Order: sequence, then C-alpha cells, then structure tokens
Amino acid sequence: MRCVFCGGELQHKTVTFHYEDDDTYLLIEQVPADVCSHCGERAYSPEVTDALLHVKRENVDPIKIIHVPVYDFTDAVKGYDDRVSENTERSDLHI
Ligand SMILES: [Zn+2]
Repeated sequence: MRCVFCGGELQHKTVTFHYEDDDTYLLIEQVPADVCSHCGERAYSPEVTDALLHVKRENVDPIKIIHVPVYDFTDAVKGYDDRVSENTERSDLHI
C-alpha cells in the first residue's frame, strides 16, 4: 500500500496514538498502524479506529498515568535567544 498523501511506502508498525480534546489528553500505546516511510502519515484500519474510539468513549482503565508539563512557548523561551523571542512577538515564525 502507498501513502494517500505523498505516495510513499507504508510500513506496518505499532505506534503511540495521541488524542487531544480541550483539556483531555490521552495516549494509547502499541497501536497497529501503517506508517508512511516518507512523510510519517499514519493510517489505521477501520477496526483499529473503532477500537481507539471504544477506549476513549468507555474510559477504559489506563495502565499508568503520567504527569505532563505544559508550557506557553513565548513565556518559556524568554531570555533563551532574542531571535526566537522577536520572531514569536511578531507572530511571523513559520515552521
Ligand atoms: Zn506519505
């Protein structure tokens, strides 16, 4: 199979799925996926997608809970490098 976005070769791997919605953030490890070797895009089978939704919907008990620090980029880099601060203040930093 080929990546629908770039045509790169897909490789079957297990990945960590990240889910974010407002202040809800969860990780699901060891998820089977087809990952593009060129752009990194992930494709999940319909069965895996349903299973991921099940984990979120049913609040399945996690294997562990981790503490995640949250930063505001502009505040966090103050004094680090003037070029970065200047760029973020002008809001024209394109990555
Ligand atoms: Zn791709």
